[in-house]
Amino acid sequence: MSTRRDFLHLTAAMTGAMTAAGALARPAAALTPASGPGRPIPPAGGDALRLVTFLPDAGSTPRLGAVRADGRVVDLSRAALPGFDPARMVSLIEAGPAALDAVRGAAASGDGPPVETVRLLAPIPAPTRNIYAVGWNYLEHFAEGQAVRGTNMEYPAHPVFFTKGVNTVNGPYDPIPFDPEVSTAIDWEVELAVIIGTGGRNIPEADAMRHVFGYSVINDTTARDMQIKLHGGQWFKGKSLDGYGPIGPWIVPAADLDPADLHLITRVNGVVKQDASTRQMYFKVARIIAELSHGLTLVPGDIIATGTPPGIGNARKPPEFLKPGDVMETEIVGLGTLRNVIQAVPA
Ligand code: ZN
Repeated sequence: MSTRRDFLHLTAAMTGAMTAAGALARPAAALTPASGPGRPIPPAGGDALRLVTFLPDAGSTPRLGAVRADGRVVDLSRAALPGFDPARMVSLIEAGPAALDAVRGAAASGDGPPVETVRLLAPIPAPTRNIYAVGWNYLEHFAEGQAVRGTNMEYPAHPVFFTKGVNTVNGPYDPIPFDPEVSTAIDWEVELAVIIGTGGRNIPEADAMRHVFGYSVINDTTARDMQIKLHGGQWFKGKSLDGYGPIGPWIVPAADLDPADLHLITRVNGVVKQDASTRQMYFKVARIIAELSHGLTLVPGDIIATGTPPGIGNARKPPEFLKPGDVMETEIVGLGTLRNVIQAVPA
């Protein structure tokens, strides 16, 4: 018999499994994504390297892969690649440019199953540190929030930073739990995620882009009622519920993607809710890294969510929030698409 606790555990199952020496703690059935919306979405083509953490089948252990332009997944744990653990994305990130070059070679010459037949996990399923996030990084989103808040504060001179707990990390096609006892105001936030490669402290803005390993898509899913009304208005808790941070479907290395003008889209049940460009970001990626690392050490594999554009549910008239059965799609054109179903937690 399912319980609420079981469901939340399932949401975090992959996270827990990754720390248990690769042994999957859940029965195979629980790891199979829902049919339909939960199926992996093939890439739209392009030559970019797409790095995934995946399970070839329900009984296997997580490993790294590269999704080719034709939608096939090359299993990097089967290639003889020196210098990193082929089960851990952060190990590849730490290994540096030579390892990434070797992966490019393996991806170009290898073959594997269609991406629709494997299970993609979050690219870094179990980060050891909170996800960094930037608030109000699109002026239009700041303005729509002002209108709801009824305040008239000035736009901050430095980025607004907060973090999301590690158990927010959720797979690109996995369900997001809906528990009315926790929140009835789940909201969407499409964002470009930056994955740090070379760590550092006091990174100058002019050097900052050299510290980027790559990019991914994240939805900074938020319990808006909790964020705004509870906990003294401090954002951490409402941003940190289990499963409220789907990310993926893959990481595209920095050399393969220019973050300056990427098209960001959120769709709910096929209806476009957010439609913007990273060109509208007030603080660009380099400035964010410089400001965040000011007196604070970033390490390889750190994830930074760079802020959401306008169109969130809370600023709509009337406000709109996600409910069980809703399908939330989070896309960055040329990068990838997440598709997560809002799923009621068993009573
Ligand atoms: Zn956000």
